[in-house]
Amino acid sequence: RFHAIVVERTSAEDGTKTQHAALTLVDETFLMPGDVTIAVEYSSLNYKDGLALAGRPGVVRVWPLIAGIDLVGTVESSEDPRWVPGDRVILNGSGLGESHHGGLAERARVSGASLVRLPAGISARRAAAIGTAGFTAMLAVLALERAGITPDSGPVLVTGAAGGVGSIAVALLSAGGYRVTASTGRVGELGGYLRGLGAETILDRSTLSEPGKPLQAQRWAAAVDSVGSATLANVLAQANYGAVITACGLAQGADLPTTVMPFILRGVSLVGINSVEAPIALREQAWSRLESDLDLTLLDGLTSNITLEEALTAADDILAGRLHGRTVVSIH
Ligand code: NAP
Repeated sequence: RFHAIVVERTSAEDGTKTQHAALTLVDETFLMPGDVTIAVEYSSLNYKDGLALAGRPGVVRVWPLIAGIDLVGTVESSEDPRWVPGDRVILNGSGLGESHHGGLAERARVSGASLVRLPAGISARRAAAIGTAGFTAMLAVLALERAGITPDSGPVLVTGAAGGVGSIAVALLSAGGYRVTASTGRVGELGGYLRGLGAETILDRSTLSEPGKPLQAQRWAAAVDSVGSATLANVLAQANYGAVITACGLAQGADLPTTVMPFILRGVSLVGINSVEAPIALREQAWSRLESDLDLTLLDGLTSNITLEEALTAADDILAGRLHGRTVVSIH
C-alpha cells in the first residue's frame, strides 16, 4: 500500500455533487493501466492542483482520482522499450491529475509515451520546482522565438508575474536578454523579488485589470499572460505593431473582452499555449532549453518545499494568491 491524495466526488440526495480531497492509503490495484510504473519522488503545486485539492470543479474529470498534474521519479518497471528500471523521468500534464491518476502519491503508473528523461543538469527536486508552470513558461518563450521575437524587438510584459508561470517566465526572459516588465498585484511585497528574477520594471496589475479602450498607447513587443480576461484585453490593446502575445492562463478569468482592432490595425498575434497536450518533441525541446537557459540559483530562490500532507492546506493558499513562485511537494 502507498500514500496518495485522492479526490472523491459524492452526490447529495438533491443531486448536488461535491468533491473532496484527502491523504489516504491505496493499494497497487487502485492504479490505472499504463506501461511504466514509477516511484514518485516529487510533485508540485500548480494553480490547477489548488483547484483539484480544494474540491473545485474543472480539473478532475474522473473519480476517485489521485491528484497532481506533475511528477518526477524513478522508473520501477516498464513495458515501454524507451524506459528501463532506474531511469529518472518527468511527466507534466498529459491528463495526469485530470483523467489519469496523478503525481501526488508515492507511486504512479502512466504511459511511457509522454515521459521526458530528467536532464543531467537538473536534479529531481529542481525539475519538480520547474514543473508544469516552468514548462509552460518555456513553451511561451519558445512560441515568441518561433514568431520571430528577439530582445531587440522591444519590452516584454509578464502578467501574474509573482505566480509560478510568471516567475519562471521573468527569469527565462531576462536571462535571454529581454527587457522585462513584471505585472503583479503585490508590488510592495514582491517587487524586490521580481527585480531579483531580472524584471527591469514592476507594474501594478490594477493598471491592467479593468476594462479599457480597444486601442491604447503601444508599449509591448511581446507578452506572456497567465491572467486572461480584461488584463489580456488591455495587453492586446497596448501591444506594439507586430507584437506577439502568448495566452497561458486565466487567473483573472476565462473571458476575453477584446475587439479585432489590435489584430487588424496593429497586426498583433495572439498565440495559445497548451502544456497538457504538448507533443513529445516539443516537451523534449522545452526541457532541454530549461536545462541550458534557466538559472538554477534563481530557481532555488523562488521555490518553497512542502510535504504531501501540507499540500492539502497549501491548495487554499495558492488559490487565494498567498503563495509566490513555485511549491515543490516532497513525496517521502
Ligand atoms: P499561480 O502560481 O497561482 O500564479 C497565478 C498568479 O496570477 C498569481 O500569483 C497572481 O500574480 C496572479 N493573479 C491571481 N489572481 C489574479 C486576478 N484576479 N487578477 C490578476 N492576476 C491574478 O498559478 P500558476 O500555476 O502559475 O498558473 C497561472 C495560470 O496559468 C493559471 O490560470 C493556470 O491554470 C494557467 N496555466 C496554464 C497552463 C497551460 O498549459 N496553458 C499551464 C500552467 C498554468 P501576482 O500576485 O503577481 O499578481
